Amino acid sequence: MNNEKYDLIVVGGGVLGTFHAYHALLAGKSVAMVEKDCEPQGATVRNFGQVVPSGMDAKWQNYGRRSLEIYKDLQSRFDISVRQNGSIYLASNDEEVQLLHELHKINSANDYESQLRSSRECLATYQGLKTDYVKEGLFFPGEVTVEPRVAVHQIRAYLIEQHGLAYFPNHSVMEIDSATEQQWVFCNNGEVFVGDKVVVCTGSDFKNLYPTLYGLSDLEVTKLQMMQTVAQKNQIIPGSVLTGLSIRRYESFAECPSYQAVKAKEAKQSKHKEWGVHILFKQAMDGSVIIGDSHEYADAGQADTLGFDINHDINQYMIDLAKEIFQLEDWRLQRTWFGVYSQCKTKDVFEHTIDENVHIITGIGGKGMTGSAGYAEASIRKIFDL
Ligand SMILES: Cc1cc2nc3c(=O)[nH]c(=O)nc-3n(C[C@H](O)[C@H](O)[C@H](O)COP(=O)(O)OP(=O)(O)OC[C@H]3O[C@@H](n4cnc5c(N)ncnc54)[C@H](O)[C@@H]3O)c2cc1C
Repeated sequence: MNNEKYDLIVVGGGVLGTFHAYHALLAGKSVAMVEKDCEPQGATVRNFGQVVPSGMDAKWQNYGRRSLEIYKDLQSRFDISVRQNGSIYLASNDEEVQLLHELHKINSANDYESQLRSSRECLATYQGLKTDYVKEGLFFPGEVTVEPRVAVHQIRAYLIEQHGLAYFPNHSVMEIDSATEQQWVFCNNGEVFVGDKVVVCTGSDFKNLYPTLYGLSDLEVTKLQMMQTVAQKNQIIPGSVLTGLSIRRYESFAECPSYQAVKAKEAKQSKHKEWGVHILFKQAMDGSVIIGDSHEYADAGQADTLGFDINHDINQYMIDLAKEIFQLEDWRLQRTWFGVYSQCKTKDVFEHTIDENVHIITGIGGKGMTGSAGYAEASIRKIFDL
């Protein structure tokens, strides 16, 4: 049994758990973070690392904007791999151009800086971008990227070094007893932690803790396929690059006046709809380019039905689409993988409290790298009544 008693025990070391730990520590709480794997290997390390409040609806844009401040502040203290190169949305036809103009207007009213860019300006900034693809762009200069395989580990290292986070990898939480005033957290290796409050941020794992609760919820899991090229020797593609299908998919554009009309004109059936494909690019620090992604869904209780394979046809389809947008120097892939995140069918995040002091927070969907830092700040304030 661990002899310490903590103000907060965080279960799960992904981005959502890590930022809950971060805000609780900054509020002066003692925190233990318990992670089942040797290091977090979930959605948090498998994504693009695009921090793009520009893509979120109004509520999550606010969390995302706060996240930007937190990421930048953290970077000024400790290298967590933040780069401020902005995000660009590239329109490939008149309808998408129309949506860019409308989003630009919405953001001007929201006091969130964005800049319309002509095709020529886009071609000058994004090397290899194809002339016949890009009609116009919308650029968000304040947005950042992080390296997904680096950032969460660096933030955790900072919290351990500078704020006394107690971190326990290789501890899978099997049960939480919240019947008394103290919360008892039992791990698979026999370790037991005691704390005043517990936050459960276990991502898309619905088997170990509260399986019945999740089975009755409207939580679902999404499987996304990703690819990463070898390093491009000379080609520079700064920041986050989002393209026409993203304009037709992201929540922020759904708030544009023309959105419904644009969607109504789309073909009901298409490969990109069947596989939930839109094309994003993010160049990593080593010059390689991360390309994705696809979306396949299953209910929380049936997550296994998504299987463990990478569907080669989906990857080939994404490469074919990507080649219509960019000419890369070197298309060879160094790796492919899939990631899984959880989300609710009817809500923007899953929040459920058990016996007042155990707070389950998951199902943040595809916005976790963008929204978690800001959202967790509000969440910790609520949990501790700060
Ligand atoms: C391919 C892909 C691309 C994406 N791209 C972006 C992007 O560019 N920008 C963006 O904003 N978002 C993106 N997202 C979404 C983002 O990655 C997720 O929203 C976010 O990572 C979810 O974080 P999490 O902490 O909830 O879950 P996870 O990262 O899955 O973390 C959950 C953690 O809990 C641990 N755990 C589970 N059960 C237990 C247990 N019983 N005991 C102890 N530990 C446990 C797991 O091991 C894991 O480390 C993407 C997601 C994917 C999959």
